Amino acid sequence: MPARTGAQYLSGLREQPREIWFRGERVKDVTAHPGLARGAQAIASLYDQQSEAKLKAEMTYTSPKTGDALGLSFIIPKTQDDLVRRRGQMLNWARTTCGMMGRSPDFMNVHFAAWAGAADYFGEGKKEYGENMRRYHEYISENDLVLTHSLINLQRSRTVSGMFNLQEGTALQAVRETSAGIIVKGARVLATLGPFSDEIAVYSPRLGRHTETHSPFALNFSIPCGTPGLKFLCRDSFDYEKSHFDHPLGSRFEEMDCVVFFDDVLVPWERVFIYGDVDRLNEAPIVTNSSAHTAHQGAAKNLAKCELVLGVALLMSQTLGTEHLPHTQERIGELIMYTELMRACIRAGEADAKLNQFGVMTPSSLPVETTRNLFMTAYPKMAEILQLMGSSSLMMLPTEADFNSPLGPHIEQYLATDTSGARDRVKLFHLAWDIACSSFGQRQVLYERFFASDPLTRARALAATYPKKEVTDRVLEFLNRDDHIP
Ligand SMILES: Cc1cc2nc3c(=O)[nH]c(=O)nc-3n(C[C@H](O)[C@H](O)[C@H](O)COP(=O)(O)OP(=O)(O)OC[C@H]3O[C@@H](n4cnc5c(N)ncnc54)[C@H](O)[C@@H]3O)c2cc1C
Repeated sequence: MPARTGAQYLSGLREQPREIWFRGERVKDVTAHPGLARGAQAIASLYDQQSEAKLKAEMTYTSPKTGDALGLSFIIPKTQDDLVRRRGQMLNWARTTCGMMGRSPDFMNVHFAAWAGAADYFGEGKKEYGENMRRYHEYISENDLVLTHSLINLQRSRTVSGMFNLQEGTALQAVRETSAGIIVKGARVLATLGPFSDEIAVYSPRLGRHTETHSPFALNFSIPCGTPGLKFLCRDSFDYEKSHFDHPLGSRFEEMDCVVFFDDVLVPWERVFIYGDVDRLNEAPIVTNSSAHTAHQGAAKNLAKCELVLGVALLMSQTLGTEHLPHTQERIGELIMYTELMRACIRAGEADAKLNQFGVMTPSSLPVETTRNLFMTAYPKMAEILQLMGSSSLMMLPTEADFNSPLGPHIEQYLATDTSGARDRVKLFHLAWDIACSSFGQRQVLYERFFASDPLTRARALAATYPKKEVTDRVLEFLNRDDHIP
């Protein structure tokens, strides 16, 4: 089946009954439910790009099996050009959502493409697991399915096993095996995009070190979101049903986050990729390089976010007539630096890409992983810069209805600036508020701090993988240099 349209994606969501719980009730149809529907529409708009005449070539590749045009983020890259084309597709999607849907489907697509390219790694655990991985990638790419994922066990107590919260009764684990598959029970966080996905992938991040070599907690599988016993509990929505004028981002890009409960859920054997093997689970992101591929996707999202914040900051300073102020220029300079660093790291990751041991073209890990670490502190700072530049303008936010009220003429007169009419000013500052102040905006800050594990753990991971000898040798060479300068 060729890459789906938005309408096909939405009808796919309607056709698979699943347990989505939201504001105390089970949602019948996420594509029509207040607080959720517009998030589904946003994903549908990404899918529509795949069949738009002028974008199709940039958004798809040819299926090696059927010859159909498939979503480009499913490609198993073999050349640098594949990576560059794939990034073009990811950046198109990221710019469409202003970088505000971090879990747009390409995130999981590149993940499974990297794993399918390295299917032998899973096959070394058990031959069938390698075949399962190949078949699964073919299935999701040929059917253009959307995946959510939940990797983390719930925070409860750190006394049992330290960082990974492995507790009987809470953490997700295999409870028994049957001829049909594994029965799993427990809970996981945080399935972003849960209500808008066809399938859920469950595995563990490389940073979650299990303490045993064989463990019922060591799982890597994917199942349909409608699998019996699977329940998605949504947080409250940040789409308050307001107009795009009043709530420009929240009214469009609510991707939703869920806790997932697994009540004795059957995972069929053909959907199991790793089971019990702690070392294989922990090493998967590094050995298969899936971590570098998702960092490449994340870097495209970061660039789109940087472009948005920089553009908004520039327009704010023009609107308020503050462009000439040194501290404005200093803040704009900082935003430019983040933007250009993202762009440069993406290019470096692609320019220095190499074929890995499985023959998959892999972005150079250090530049792309650096964007992930940097954004954990850079993005909160970017939001803060908008707060500092906006101050009271971020509170002078009459709604669309106010403009049409008897106070409209006052608003038009007093809220205009030397360079902007009141309506344009307010529209712009609603956007700045939605980036830097609203619940939607603060969830984005939290997302960037934590979506890829906590900052301390990530910093330690970068330190552990950095080729240190190169720089220490350079310093030692200097210390031992025999160059007596008189
Ligand atoms: C908006 C959002 C979306 C997300 N989306 C997804 C998703 O789609 N899929 C998914 O699987 N996950 C997702 N996550 C979850 C994310 O992976 C986790 O939040 C992240 O890994 C951190 O885990 P945690 O929340 O359990 O925090 P913790 O690990 O408990 O960390 C909380 C704080 O405690 C500190 N800390 C923790 N352990 C120690 C220790 N031993 N010593 C000292 N300090 C410590 C950390 O440094 C951190 O500051 C998302 C998170 C957010 C916020």
